[in-house]
Amino acid sequence: MAKNRTFTMIKPCAVKNGHIGAILAKINEAGFRIVAMRMTRLSKSQAEAFYGVHKERPFFNDLVGFMSSGPVVAAILEKENAVEDYRKLIGATNPENAEEGTIRKLYAESMQNNAVHGSDSDENAALEGRFFFPANECFSVEGKEELV
Ligand code: ATP
Ligand code: MG
Repeated sequence: MAKNRTFTMIKPCAVKNGHIGAILAKINEAGFRIVAMRMTRLSKSQAEAFYGVHKERPFFNDLVGFMSSGPVVAAILEKENAVEDYRKLIGATNPENAEEGTIRKLYAESMQNNAVHGSDSDENAALEGRFFFPANECFSVEGKEELV
């Protein structure tokens, strides 16, 4: 299968709890390469735009408040079957339902504060990657600059 890309954020809870290094180690051990990465903080309007698909949901305002409450680590990851494999690595949205050994099982605090984001399709991975990173800040495994 061809290499493709997904987008992740280490959410404010996991940054605050000191789990950046452990989560990046899990990502590398699972065979993902980091194509782009930055620590940043979302404004309220950026968080609203990023999770806009959920704007009618009852948890939306709390989610936006949480996601803009502190720094996140945003990254584009590359691997064969990246989107699906990364969703497997992070585990279910609700950490109580996440499999043993998954990032959310290990590091999530709650359904909302669930440690990491992972794209749910190739199309969204590309959109989300472009939301954070210009093409000249994305580096493929070979080190070439590439469009996301
Ligand atoms: P993400 O998009 O962050 O990778 P996901 O795809 O597993 O998570 P979504 O349904 O897209 O889950 O929900 C986005 C985020 O909104 C969740 O990761 C979680 O932080 C929050 N969330 C989802 N459902 C609830 C809920 N019922 N109560 C509180 N927060 C929720
Ligand atoms: Mg989602």
